Amino acid sequence: MKNRKFIFALTALIIIFISYLLVNRLNDKRLVVVESPNKIVMNTIARVVAVAPDEKIARLSIDAAFEKIYRVEKLMNRYDPNSQLSQVNKLAAKEPVRVDKELFDILQQSVYYSKLSDGAFDITVGPLVDLWRKCAEANSMPTDEQLAEVKKIIGCDKLLLDANDFSVKFAAKGMKLDLGGIAKGFAVDLAAGEMKKAGAVGGLIDLGGQIGCFGTTEKKGKWIVGVRNPAKSEDNKIIARLTLSDAAVSTSGNYERFYKIGDNRFSHIFNPATEKSTDQLSSVTIIALNGTEADALSTAVSVMGAEKGLELIEKTENTEAVIIKADSQDLIKSSGAQQYLIE
Ligand code: ADP
Ligand code: MG
Repeated sequence: MKNRKFIFALTALIIIFISYLLVNRLNDKRLVVVESPNKIVMNTIARVVAVAPDEKIARLSIDAAFEKIYRVEKLMNRYDPNSQLSQVNKLAAKEPVRVDKELFDILQQSVYYSKLSDGAFDITVGPLVDLWRKCAEANSMPTDEQLAEVKKIIGCDKLLLDANDFSVKFAAKGMKLDLGGIAKGFAVDLAAGEMKKAGAVGGLIDLGGQIGCFGTTEKKGKWIVGVRNPAKSEDNKIIARLTLSDAAVSTSGNYERFYKIGDNRFSHIFNPATEKSTDQLSSVTIIALNGTEADALSTAVSVMGAEKGLELIEKTENTEAVIIKADSQDLIKSSGAQQYLIE
């Protein structure tokens, strides 16, 4: 009798042990990782990495990410006369122009970041960007008169958004919106959303230095992101390596895209208050929970400079900054930045 009890207990134990092994094996199902080729989109190079239970899901999620990025480009490229943004720039001084939800959404967020940064970030800089570009083509500096003319039509207070019908109106003639400082980060966010919907359990989107990542790598770890120093972009120098997940990183730089007049280079980021090109910081990297915020704030901090910029980052929750000044190689970090940095 005793023996039978013992055999029964032993069999039960063995069954429990085998079930435990089986369940563990199922949980440990391998994830696959698929990396897209580089594609030129939004005037930069894009790359997407997807982690999924199988290759088909990974590929579908990469396709979904690119589809969204192409859509954002089609809506928001102001140099494409057929984009919705070009329609706004052409017509909104005369009449309210209705736009798609994505465009209305980014305009609302742009106004929010303009207020948050005390006007340092401002998508109404279009005419100022155009003036500097024309001057660079003519190889002559903008005159005070030209700058004074442009000043009249810059400012988010002149951008009228009506959330009832998603329409946009300008309060002044000649206004032009430029989403170059925020659209890539916004596209990264939408792309990440599409990848998750398509079944990816992890992903990384790199849109010309605007990086967004979610979930885990195929080894179930965090993502490692190298941040290029735009001041040294020719030799692809990495200024920092970050480890993170469910976060976004944006780097703005002074010398990667620039205008040249005479022997001087001028950054493509302008201070709306002074109408001058920014020159204090050679690189600003922002870590935030989403790409839109990281992108807008990296442009804003480039304008504000190290001291004011850091103040803004410290008071904005869940954001960190790594800044390099134009005249030094030292990394200036916000109070919580170190946790993301790999030495
Ligand atoms: P990148 O395009 O290299 O990622 P940014 O995100 O910093 O760089 O955006 C710079 C672009 O933003 C400029 O090319 C211009 O189109 C636009 N821009 C320039 N100055 C400002 C500003 N003060 N606020 C908002 N956008 C700006
Ligand atoms: Mg930006």
